[in-house]
Amino acid sequence: MADSTQPQARDTIHAGGEWRAAVSGATREILDPADAQPFAVVAEGDEKDTDVAVAAARRAFDEGPWPHTPVAERAALLRRVADLLVRDREELGLLESRDAGKTVEEGRIDIDCVADAFRYFADLIAAEAPGRVVDAGSSDIHSVVVHEPVGVCAMITPWNYPLLQASWKIAPALAAGNTFVIKPSEITPLTTVALIHLLIEAGLPAGVANIVTGPGHTVGARLAEHPDVDLVSFTGGLVSGVKVAQAAAPTVKKVALELGGKNPNVVFADACATEEGFDTAVDQALNAAFIHSGQVCSAGSRLIVEESVRERFVTELARRAGKIRLGRGTEEGVECGPLVSEQQRAKVEEYVASALSEGAVLRTGGKRPEPSAERPASGYFYEPTVLDRCHREMRVVREEVFGPVLTVETFRTEDEAVALANDTEYGLAGAVWTSDPGRARRVAGRLRHGTVWINDFHPYLPQAEWGGFGKSGLGRELGPAGLAEYRETKHVYQNLAPKPVRWFAG
Ligand code: NAD
Repeated sequence: MADSTQPQARDTIHAGGEWRAAVSGATREILDPADAQPFAVVAEGDEKDTDVAVAAARRAFDEGPWPHTPVAERAALLRRVADLLVRDREELGLLESRDAGKTVEEGRIDIDCVADAFRYFADLIAAEAPGRVVDAGSSDIHSVVVHEPVGVCAMITPWNYPLLQASWKIAPALAAGNTFVIKPSEITPLTTVALIHLLIEAGLPAGVANIVTGPGHTVGARLAEHPDVDLVSFTGGLVSGVKVAQAAAPTVKKVALELGGKNPNVVFADACATEEGFDTAVDQALNAAFIHSGQVCSAGSRLIVEESVRERFVTELARRAGKIRLGRGTEEGVECGPLVSEQQRAKVEEYVASALSEGAVLRTGGKRPEPSAERPASGYFYEPTVLDRCHREMRVVREEVFGPVLTVETFRTEDEAVALANDTEYGLAGAVWTSDPGRARRVAGRLRHGTVWINDFHPYLPQAEWGGFGKSGLGRELGPAGLAEYRETKHVYQNLAPKPVRWFAG
């Protein structure tokens, strides 16, 4: 008989130091996108569970030790979490791979990056001065600007990089002394649940870290509107992000949004002048567009290539895209996993159909692959797809597809390349490939995107801010600004020799 005092597999809600099932008793099966079979069960929380978790986080912030814990102790705890992540790397990498459909190697790399985020924020707070003394122009005045935690932070995360996106919020929030409630994507909650276990193991006081597994329209919406939440940090799509900002507005809580992207990868002919340059630019364009089956917010989904090299470039790109090995992410040698859900694949199919009806030319892909031993028919696979002869009016060029679909546009002049690259309502990331250093600087300076790569694609550094211009979001994650999001700034002005002002005569 099951021991009712022990947490059950479905007890994935953590509030005030206790693991529990949903108040309603509802559960959700978590599917492996490679075969659509359930492999885990989690609690399906709702507004009631959210209220319990927020109350626990509120109590822990208002009455608990964490906001006042010395910086050195907070930094030490974050480093312990990083060590535990390294200890559990294999298990967590595999879990991320199964849940999100990525290859195990990508899953492992994600866990390394998560550990790096915890270490980075530990180092950042450990190296900081406790406050900034301001010269008030008088020796009778002591004026200092200090940082304090914001309070209770709500975090809402997507399914493509479940633990990585969570860590970009949790690590700085804890570093700054906040308490939090996180709601992972309802389809990929497992590694975030595991991380909460590690935070507890590392010694975080009860009530500081809380999690509610459940859907966006109930748990997420309640977090965004909740009067006891001081900040909501959201990563996900534009439509949900706008809803979160609207729900948060009446309580004037702080809002941070990391939204989508329609990221240009601009290739000048001079980058392809040598065989090595050509090979590198093609190889990286492939990586930019198809890693994690294109389900990456910064995916280079728009290839903007100089007309004179288009045919050669696209022919080689399509040839290599057609050879990408699709399969279950946990199989050895597989290069790309399935899409995360049936819904996501249907969305991709719809975009490809619309592009073809608008005149795009299919160079490779555009369909589901033949099933095989490593690619069950029930999995949500879709072939890497290259759509040539695209133009800026097409939906597939303007909207985020979030799948393995690369569109090709061409330009003749530098001005035209920049205009095309900036012709998006988003502004998350973009790249320029050129062998001309002057052009590289000029174009990078003109791109309206939060990250610009020159002769590279995808790397990010925890020390450097990540975030978007335009509708790619509000605020920044990582870097010093990523910590500042989780802080209030307070000016303490002390008069050491108080006297009457005598403004009023009476
Ligand atoms: P999504 O917007 O559907 O969901 C994201 C999260 O929001 C989920 O946890 C979901 O349950 C929740 N949610 C949905 N509706 C909500 C509502 N009304 N109120 C509160 N929460 C709600 O996005 P997704 O499909 O999970 O993720 C893909 C999107 O995330 C893409 O657009 C991608 O570009 C974006 N993304 C951005 C970054 C970045 O750093 N900018 C990183 C990863 C993903």
